[in-house]
Amino acid sequence: MPELPEVEITTRKLKTLILGKRILNFNRKILNIERKGKAILIYLSGGKILGFHQRMSGKLLVVGRARLSDGQGRDDKHIRKRFKLSDGRDLVFHDVRKFGVIWYGTAKKVLKDNYFKTLGEDALTAGLQSIKNILLNRKGKIKAFLLNQKNLAGIGNIMADEILWKAKIHPEREIKTLRYIEVKRLWKALKFILKKSIKLGGSTMRDWLHPGGEKGGYFKKRYVYGREGQKCFRCRAKISRKKIAGRSSYFCPRCQVL
Ligand SMILES: [Zn+2]
Repeated sequence: MPELPEVEITTRKLKTLILGKRILNFNRKILNIERKGKAILIYLSGGKILGFHQRMSGKLLVVGRARLSDGQGRDDKHIRKRFKLSDGRDLVFHDVRKFGVIWYGTAKKVLKDNYFKTLGEDALTAGLQSIKNILLNRKGKIKAFLLNQKNLAGIGNIMADEILWKAKIHPEREIKTLRYIEVKRLWKALKFILKKSIKLGGSTMRDWLHPGGEKGGYFKKRYVYGREGQKCFRCRAKISRKKIAGRSSYFCPRCQVL
């Protein structure tokens, strides 16, 4: 599932590919493209927004008009929507599992959606003081906290495990027991991991791709996610896997002591 780095990459790449073009379906010009949490907002002329949430398997691709169709005008069955662009190419929303979301309407109407209304501060830009404030007086375990988009926007299962490994904090650690030095480490790890993943083009674990069709390189360079039984890169102990907050969680039992 695309997380903050993948959505950030998609947004940046879309800007280079389609900014300033018209979407012929609506006869509107693309004025700006922005990431909000894990959603992508395409601002169109006339005050309209075309928005996407990739959820499990969605991807936005910019392709030639005939690509991803069977040659007789029928689309690949996983294409949810095809938007014709003024430069002769198409923006397609390809979504195998069909959990993705598409919004279209006035900016006011789209941003009223509950997803945007409840979104927490962006994980990439949140400062140390914000993180401290958000954690203050919170109950529960740190991994569940990181996955909840209402606390911090953008982190998913892979990034949460990577961040906690980097910060040497066990995913089941109770928030109220975290010391200041650990919160600082968590904030530093958060920035480090998200920026590293963006730099490497995001994670292609299964089928996520850049809008131009390229794969992301972070998954090959990951520290802990999906490495059960393999050696920790820091201490050589074997990586453990456990279901935490309903998700498979990977951690080092020696570096991340509960
Ligand atoms: Zn370790």
